[in-house]
This record gives sequence, C-alpha cells and structure tokens, in this order.
Amino acid sequence: MTDPESLADRVQTGDLRIHELEEHADAETAATARRLLLERETETELEAIGDYTFPAEAADPNIENMIGAAQVPMGVVGPVAVNGGAADGEHYLPLATTEGALLASVNRGLAVIRSAGGADARVTKHGMTRAPVFRVDGVAEAAETVEWVEENVDRLREAAESTTSHGELLGVDPYVVGDSVYLRFVYDTKDAMGMNMVTIATRETCDLVEEATPADLVAVSGNLCSDKKPAAINAVEGRGRSVTADAVIPGDLVEERLHTTPEAIVEANTRKNLTGSAKAGALGFNAHAANVVAAAFLATGQDEAQVVEAANTITTMDTRERDDGTTDLYASVSLASLEVGTVGGGTKLPTQSEALEILGLRGGGDPAGSNADALAEVIAVGALAGELSLLGALSSRHLASAHEDLGR
Ligand code: NAP
Repeated sequence: MTDPESLADRVQTGDLRIHELEEHADAETAATARRLLLERETETELEAIGDYTFPAEAADPNIENMIGAAQVPMGVVGPVAVNGGAADGEHYLPLATTEGALLASVNRGLAVIRSAGGADARVTKHGMTRAPVFRVDGVAEAAETVEWVEENVDRLREAAESTTSHGELLGVDPYVVGDSVYLRFVYDTKDAMGMNMVTIATRETCDLVEEATPADLVAVSGNLCSDKKPAAINAVEGRGRSVTADAVIPGDLVEERLHTTPEAIVEANTRKNLTGSAKAGALGFNAHAANVVAAAFLATGQDEAQVVEAANTITTMDTRERDDGTTDLYASVSLASLEVGTVGGGTKLPTQSEALEILGLRGGGDPAGSNADALAEVIAVGALAGELSLLGALSSRHLASAHEDLGR
C-alpha cells in the first residue's frame, strides 16, 4: 500500500525507515506520510507546514526527509538605484524575514540613496575557494609538495576545468602547518555560488597531487576554504564575491530624511562600527549588514548558512566638505565575502526563482557571471541602505521610537 496512512503505519511498526519513503511513493505522498507520522508521535497538527504550493519533487535536490515548507514572509524594498559594473538602473529587492521594521528601515535608506542619485557598486574580486588538506611526513615533504604545485598550476587547472564548462581556476595558494599541507584553490564560478562546482573540480586535482608528490589527501575540505565559519582569511582575501557600494549623500538630505547630520552619523559609525567592533574582536565592522544579506539569501534561494561570511563587512562613513561650505556624507559598505548565485542550489525553487525574476536576474547572465555580479551589487546597495538608516536612527536617537511606532 502506498497511501500516506499505510506508509506512516509501516514506519511506526519499523517496517520502513523514515528516509526510505520516497522509494515506495512519490515525493508528495512521502512528505504527507512523514507529517502523519509526526502528528501521531508528537500529538500535533501540521496543517501549516503541509500547506505549500510547489511540487515536492521540485525540492528533491534541496532537501531530504521533506515534511513541508517553512514559510517566511517576503516583502520588497526599493527600487534600489545602482550604478554598477553589472547592475544598472533600478531593481526591486525581495527580502524574506521575520524581523519587523527591517524592510521599513532599509526602504528608508534606499529612498535617501535614490534622492542622492543612486549608489555606485562594483564587484572587485571573484574567488570561490576549496582547500583540501594533505598529510606529509614533515616539512621536507611539505616543501616538495608545494614546489610541485607551484610548478604545475597549468596541469591542475586542466584537471579542474575538465569537470565544469563554466568554472575557471584562478590560482592555488599553498599553506603548510607541520605535517599538513593545505592547497587553497580559487575559482571564478560565474553565475553559480559554486560550492558544488569547486568541490568536484578540486577533487579531480587531488589525484594529480597524490600521484606526483608524497602528499596523501586527508579531506577535500581542510577548513582553510573557509566555508560557513567565521574566518579572518575570508575577511582579508575575500570569498565568493568581494563587493563594495558607496554613495555621497548631501548634508541637507541627511537632515531632512534621516533627521541627523553627517557629523553625527560619522561619529556613530566610528565609535560603534569601528571602535566598538574592534574592542569586541569582530571580523566585520558594520551595524547589521547580515540583516539584509540573510533576508535576500532567504528570498532568492542562496545557501543561508553562508550569511556567516557576509558578516565580514566594513562600513565607512566620512564627511566631505563642499566648496560652498556645506558638508556631505560619504557612505560605503565593503562585503569581502558575499557568496551568491543566480543558478544552481536553491535558486531553482519556485518562490526563489520568482524572487530572482523580480530582480531581473534569474538564471545565467550574458556574459556568464554578470547576473550573479549584479545580484551582489544590488544586495550591497541594500546593505548600504540598512547601514545608513540604522546609523541615522541611532544618531538621531529614533531607534526605540521607530520600533515602538511599528508595534515591535
Ligand atoms: P550546483 O547546483 O551544484 O551547480 C551549478 C551548475 O550550474 C554549475 O556547476 C554549472 O555547470 C551550471 N551552470 C549553468 N549555467 C551557469 C552559469 N551561467 N554560471 C555558472 N554555472 C552555470 O550549484 P553550486 O553553485 O556549484 O553549489 C551550490 C550548492 O552547493 C548549494 O545547494 C549549496 O547548498 C551547496 N553546498 C555544497 C557544498 C559542498 O561542499 N559540496 C558546501 C556548501 C554548499 P558546469 O559546472 O557543468 O558548467
């Protein structure tokens, strides 16, 4: 019997395991059976979790043991006015979050940026990384391995690029620690965030290294990559895309719209984002860049755990004097390691794919990589708007009242 009730019975009696349901039924039925089982065993009713609209099959590459969907409210901010290297003009930015006041705040910052003529944004570096770790006898073998790698980057590139029609190996950075050798492979992954792509490509190179050197592969990821962990290497060297957005906001606009002054925002940024973060030992020096990044990641199907790396953002605020004696505010955010894609991973799921359509950035770009660059630039301007609005609120001491007004 392959109806959900019978399948749930079979799991309960131990005849089937919970992850084996798809072997006996389609994805939709398997998810329903799992919900039934949970409802019985946890005495719950899972109507909301089961009330999703996409075909369960569509999520097959993205989830195991599916029971339904977590529905996070999605809103929109913008238009985001970007003068970018890849993004140009105005884009609405969908954001999914449960944090009330976030979109209102980002929208306020975006309105200020629009009134100031938009923000400039550029992806300044590409480099998705994977760093396998090899075992050697000691430093003599480590040096021999590193020398071979440095002399054979072309062979490694040929092996890596044989596995992908889009990925390009940009370089290999070796690191030695005692009897461990780490090779940090750096790739341009075009419109893909690229973790699967670079893992497959790097695995292919490891055989060559093992054949030609005394090194033995221990793990295809040796954490010097470094994926989904706070790590200074990503803050310094970048990972995925390094992207900067900046804007010059006329002083009168700061006063009219943010109810504060450029000087007060600069002081708040220096004492909070720079000095406070330094004292805290932070890797990122910003107010809440991860807020916009996380909400954009959820909306557009990015790997949400990589919001860790997006927190490596530095926000700068400076005054700029004009000839007429007035003062403008120069505002920037530099996201060292923003890992985004417009193809692959969760981007194909129906709501995420529609969100990318709102941005006009679904799928591969022409040239390849331009859509993901544009997405990075739009998110960076969103993060800049978030920084401006929050620093404005803090320096005008309006933060508490804004949350109170919105009832949160
Ligand atoms: P993917 O879904 O595995 O692959 C994307 C593929 O799309 C590329 O390999 C490429 O194929 C193809 N493609 C088509 N048009 C493209 C274009 N314009 N630009 C670039 N590629 C294009 O996704 P991924 O980005 O490599 O990896 C993301 C997934 O990895 C996420 O689901 C994430 O959760 C997961 N992840 C994996 C690991 C891991 O260690 N494996 C770690 C963290 C996250 P060709 O290569 O054939 O050209």
